[in-house]
Amino acid sequence: MIPKSSFAMVQTGSRKLEGREIAIPDIDDESAILQIEACGICGSDYEQFEGQLPAPLPVVPGHEPLGRIVAIGDGAARRWGVDVGDRVAVETLIACRNCPTCVSGHYQRCTDLRVYSLISTGTPPGLWGSYSQYMFLDAHSIVHKMDPKLPAEIAVMFNPLGAGYRWAVEIPKTGVGDTVLIMGPGQRGLASVIACREAGATNIIVTGLAQDTEKLALARRYGAHHVIDVESEDVVQRVKEVTDGHGADVAVDVSPYATKPVTDAIEVVRRGGTIVLAGIKGYKPIPDFVSDVIVGKEITIKGATGVTSSGYRSAIRTIEAGNVDLAAMHTHDFALEDAELAIRTLAREIPGDESIHSCLIPEH
Ligand SMILES: [Zn+2]
Ligand SMILES: [Zn+2]
Repeated sequence: MIPKSSFAMVQTGSRKLEGREIAIPDIDDESAILQIEACGICGSDYEQFEGQLPAPLPVVPGHEPLGRIVAIGDGAARRWGVDVGDRVAVETLIACRNCPTCVSGHYQRCTDLRVYSLISTGTPPGLWGSYSQYMFLDAHSIVHKMDPKLPAEIAVMFNPLGAGYRWAVEIPKTGVGDTVLIMGPGQRGLASVIACREAGATNIIVTGLAQDTEKLALARRYGAHHVIDVESEDVVQRVKEVTDGHGADVAVDVSPYATKPVTDAIEVVRRGGTIVLAGIKGYKPIPDFVSDVIVGKEITIKGATGVTSSGYRSAIRTIEAGNVDLAAMHTHDFALEDAELAIRTLAREIPGDESIHSCLIPEH
């Protein structure tokens, strides 16, 4: 039985979250209702909480939903290939599928893009985020079936792991024998290590801060060959050492706010190498940026945000295959009511408590 309303955490202002009951709507032929099993906590949740990432308030945050379909229209069931009872991973983006960019195969750049967690509760039916017991699935959702036997806190890693595949493998075309420098050892940095390892990279180098000791140890466990503490070591020097002076084929920046990784990447990538920039810098300019180096070395620099279906599919295959110890990077489960604590823990606002991958597990 589906209840009449869902408990949800609603963001009403910057650093303001409150619990509310929101009516669960009737669905039409093309939509569905998801009962949330887990919702991943993401760095961008903190940006939204802080107000750096503007959201149309009030809003239900949460864009990494894993759950079970509890109601679905016949049209949606047919198009998505799922039915009531199926466990699904839900993609964050809701694209129009009709604009020239969607039609050209780049739905992540849709000109009319909507994003779960960034649609106000004032837009019916209001349940547009997964900090909630139940969530509305729009007709244009993309869902992926997921093995129902896996623990929810592991299955929900499809999102960060999907980013690892898209940013560190698909976009830079990482392949067998490549040297990859991953800058930042957070959940997306670690996911990049796992993805590059699966793709056959044979020299994986990960950078982090002094306080990232545990994350760097985990990076090694996931297959990194070298780790660099950027506070006590010279990144450019060390990368040259461990690549016999050749530099990296690919550099992926997933570090938040720091600008030095960008100039370091330009310095250490090999001639003809590729740099993927995925860490946001709060719109700061990059000091010491010298474009001539990019020209001289014929470097390709690409920006990346979000994940597309192929990345999610690779992530789900890795999760379901079960040969990577993903539990090692899962540090916290939080109750829905503790969403604020979850966000602040990820952002290192809670002294002594270090979060890598964490999620909300709603009670039903
Ligand atoms: Zn996310
Ligand atoms: Zn579109």
